[in-house]
Amino acid sequence: MEVVESHPDHFQVEVLTAGSNADLLIEQSLRHQPNTVVIGDAQQYQKVMDALDPQGIKVYSDGAIADVVTMEGIDLVLTALVGYAGLLPTINAIKAGKNIALANKETLVVAGQLITSLAEENAVNIYPVDSEHSAIFQCLLGEWQNPIEKIVLTASGGPFRGREREFLRNVTKADALKHPNWDMGAKITIDSATLMNKGLEVIEATWLFGLRLDQVEVVVHPQSIIHSMVQFNDGSIKAQMGLPDMKLPILFALSYPKRLPTDFPRMNFTQYPQLTFEQPDLQTFRNLALAFEASDKGGNMPCVLNAANEIAVSEFLKERIGFLEMSDVVETCLSKMPFIKTPSYEDYVETDKETRIKALEIIN
Ligand code: MG
Repeated sequence: MEVVESHPDHFQVEVLTAGSNADLLIEQSLRHQPNTVVIGDAQQYQKVMDALDPQGIKVYSDGAIADVVTMEGIDLVLTALVGYAGLLPTINAIKAGKNIALANKETLVVAGQLITSLAEENAVNIYPVDSEHSAIFQCLLGEWQNPIEKIVLTASGGPFRGREREFLRNVTKADALKHPNWDMGAKITIDSATLMNKGLEVIEATWLFGLRLDQVEVVVHPQSIIHSMVQFNDGSIKAQMGLPDMKLPILFALSYPKRLPTDFPRMNFTQYPQLTFEQPDLQTFRNLALAFEASDKGGNMPCVLNAANEIAVSEFLKERIGFLEMSDVVETCLSKMPFIKTPSYEDYVETDKETRIKALEIIN
């Protein structure tokens, strides 16, 4: 919303949605006067209605998100729902011909094949909002014809970088929610601590940029200044750099192909005399290895990975399982769920549902 506010001549908000934070939705809607809002939590509907209906703003609840994204006045849909919930609204928006600014990486993880072919059929562009993928997208400007040898996704390493399994056994929810560089929601912050976030991003990158898994490399870069890199077939490497601030990738997804002026803080290289790089520790942070495995198997396995992880993270946040057990849940689900080589949309829905049941069985 800050990005939109900084460029009122370029952007107008048509629809706003929220899960359960009615107060923030109301505050933002009073500022931006959207045509329509959706509050996911039905219990908050009346409160939002009372505040916004007198303003002439239409208010819907619950499942309406999947419909409102198709509204005529919309040019671009920024999908930033958390997890699997982003899938159906994104599919509907693509079918309605809306360009997508994708902040919901789980959509491509779960159903990359389906989403990318739908986007192609409907001549829809998917602009990455994830900072790493925005970096790669920016490195590729003017290079569309040139073969990529590989991409290097940078990872901060999260709050437990360099730690061993024995230490991780007893870390708390509060420890895991302290990210060193980025200020984000709970799900993605836990995913960053387990490196599952990087695993999901690897899968996301293969779909967004049409890459084989062996063309994606992960390097831990604790300063989060290089947001990711592309290596071309002549060996040249391009990197996109800057201070870690999500406003920049969000703005670029909204303003592409233009760059709009900002007053965001500028980077001073002399304040970062050392940029360092190290291998990710796949033995300690097994989620990253599991994501590579799921992507390599393909079919519905990334969908299994995602559903098992969503349950594992939510149970960890309820303090019902420990930090290391999150990987156990994902690994067991990957080995137990039936494999479907070319899933339909219904297969994804079924896989997601069954995996959640299985994951809860394993935990209980
Ligand atoms: Mg990211």
